[in-house]
Amino acid sequence: MLKGKRLLLILVSICVASLLMMAGCTRQESASSGAPAQKGKAIKIGLSMDDLKLERWQHDRDLFTEKAKELGAEVVVQSANGDDQTQFSQCENLISQGINVLVIIPHNGEAMAPIIEQAHKAGIKVLSYDRLITNSDVDYYISFDNIKVGEIQAQAIAQLKPKGNYFMMGGSPTDNNAKMLRQGQMNVLKPLIDKGDINVVGDQWAKDWLPEEALKIMENALTANNNKIDAVVASNDSTAGGAVQALAAQGLDGKVPISGQDAELAACQRIVEGKQTMTVYKPIKSIATRAAEAAVQIAKGEVVKTDGVVNNGAKDVQSILLTPIAVDMKNMVDTVIKDGYNKLEDVFKNVPKDKWPKM
Ligand code: BGC
Repeated sequence: MLKGKRLLLILVSICVASLLMMAGCTRQESASSGAPAQKGKAIKIGLSMDDLKLERWQHDRDLFTEKAKELGAEVVVQSANGDDQTQFSQCENLISQGINVLVIIPHNGEAMAPIIEQAHKAGIKVLSYDRLITNSDVDYYISFDNIKVGEIQAQAIAQLKPKGNYFMMGGSPTDNNAKMLRQGQMNVLKPLIDKGDINVVGDQWAKDWLPEEALKIMENALTANNNKIDAVVASNDSTAGGAVQALAAQGLDGKVPISGQDAELAACQRIVEGKQTMTVYKPIKSIATRAAEAAVQIAKGEVVKTDGVVNNGAKDVQSILLTPIAVDMKNMVDTVIKDGYNKLEDVFKNVPKDKWPKM
């Protein structure tokens, strides 16, 4: 009797031990198993975002997640609030969660480079979203053509002010996009500078694209130049917002042409009120949708169709590059409003109703 009990006990222990071993194995497997996703298993995408301060990034997150869900994937979103270390550890954490693909909008393209190696070690490919991760073996890049964005900005301003004192308001120095924008702006302005028509009186970069930084920079530039600034090439709408505030304090808003980018509601309002010359509209739905489709393909181990390559300092990165659209007072309705990106009643909120365009 006792013998039988002991035998039963031994058998139960063996079963428990092997069950534990099996569980251990699966746990280990999923901890290190990155892409490609196994057939029949839900795809898990890690989305690491710099921050959510700007209107656009909330659209990016929502539209990306929506499309991924539609394609049967789950998205784990992390936002680093503009901090490199936080973003790095959030990515490490996503990797350890057994995601199949990692999508990163880096705060600092250079600082995030080492995460690519870690992801690759876990078998996970990385898609650099909107901003390029430089000097790394990043797998794919999706963005709007940022050189083109810079060219569009400078063209719009140079058309209005072909001669005069120019101030260059750059974006965040840690964002590769800010550098590409400047490259595009200079493609247009350099010949005019060389001819002596345009005189660049100042060139500065706003930390983290912050409007309050841009405000300070613009105030100092106006003081240093006795308000003799004829045009401002601002790299996005948040920096344009800060600059317009400084111009307004000197009664110069609406008198000094100024560019932007993102079609933020506040910028669209400034445009129809005559305080900002233009913005560059980058339909967020296109980038978010294409990125979600690409992420799912990558997770399945498929090759993504790209438009060409962009060099990141270490390699030519396979890239999907979308087309930006210049928007001013004339085509606001046919672009931003028609697309439903911003509503007519919101954009024209501060304009007398009899001046509203007919839809
Ligand atoms: C994006 C812009 C944005 C800026 C600030 C850039 O990398 O391309 O659309 O305005 O970051 O968030």
